[in-house]
Amino acid sequence: MRRILIALLSVGILFSCSDDGINFFTLEQDIQFGAQLDSAIMANPSEYPILDRTQYPEAYTHIERIMNAILSSNDLRYSKTFPWQVKIIMNDDVLNAFTAPGGYLYFYTGLIKFLDNEAQLAGVMAHEIAHADRRHSTQMLTRQYGFSMLFSIIMGDNPSQLEQILSQLALGGTMLKYSRDNEYEADKYAVTYLYDTDYYPRELAAFFEKMNSSTKIPEFLSTHPSDENRIKNIDDVWKNFGSRGGETYVERYQQFKNSLPRKDADGIERTATSKGGCSAIFISIF
Ligand SMILES: [Zn+2]
Repeated sequence: MRRILIALLSVGILFSCSDDGINFFTLEQDIQFGAQLDSAIMANPSEYPILDRTQYPEAYTHIERIMNAILSSNDLRYSKTFPWQVKIIMNDDVLNAFTAPGGYLYFYTGLIKFLDNEAQLAGVMAHEIAHADRRHSTQMLTRQYGFSMLFSIIMGDNPSQLEQILSQLALGGTMLKYSRDNEYEADKYAVTYLYDTDYYPRELAAFFEKMNSSTKIPEFLSTHPSDENRIKNIDDVWKNFGSRGGETYVERYQQFKNSLPRKDADGIERTATSKGGCSAIFISIF
């Protein structure tokens, strides 16, 4: 009995319960996994050609201004804890953005060029930031692996199972998709964050309307729940907060677009891939 109690107490320390469920992982692990993914992305420039910061400082000034505006919201939990950063991936054919745990954000030039104004991009970014800040990736891993790990730890038969699972993920690669609930939650928090900025919060809904009208393959939508419901839910949150207006910064956004390279740097025509969506790419496939 005593042994079980001690085991339960230790497990209690490992698990952090919050309003959005159990997460087996620590904040440090979120950051560590994100850093691992970022290194893997940087080591694979043919799949992820990152726009060079020293060559295109203006583009990074624009995108970091948008990120910092959202991070200034008091509704984030880890704005000061995570090493937030955003990178631009050069591929004009991909309408996508994704995030890694711990605050690592990636935006394709295809998506940036496709949108109409800065508030729309801020809407997508707020959504991606919400995935990281609400820790959806490690929450999902907890759901997939957590209870078998918990069982092993209690039984004491395989205390290193966590390490085994993590090395399997790193070796074999895995791409996890966020759940529908995660998507709705990210939308809700995105609107909440936008209310703390001067951006027009409803532009997140306008972003989805715009994506629906796209003739290109909108990778962002490939893993998402019904768009009609989504737009309605975003509108509901926006109205609940008072239907506030705001800035869209059309001209400044045009300057941002103009600061990007006209074509992919190597001149190669890239085809849209199905990679990404709003996937929680955890440890990517390389
Ligand atoms: Zn998402």
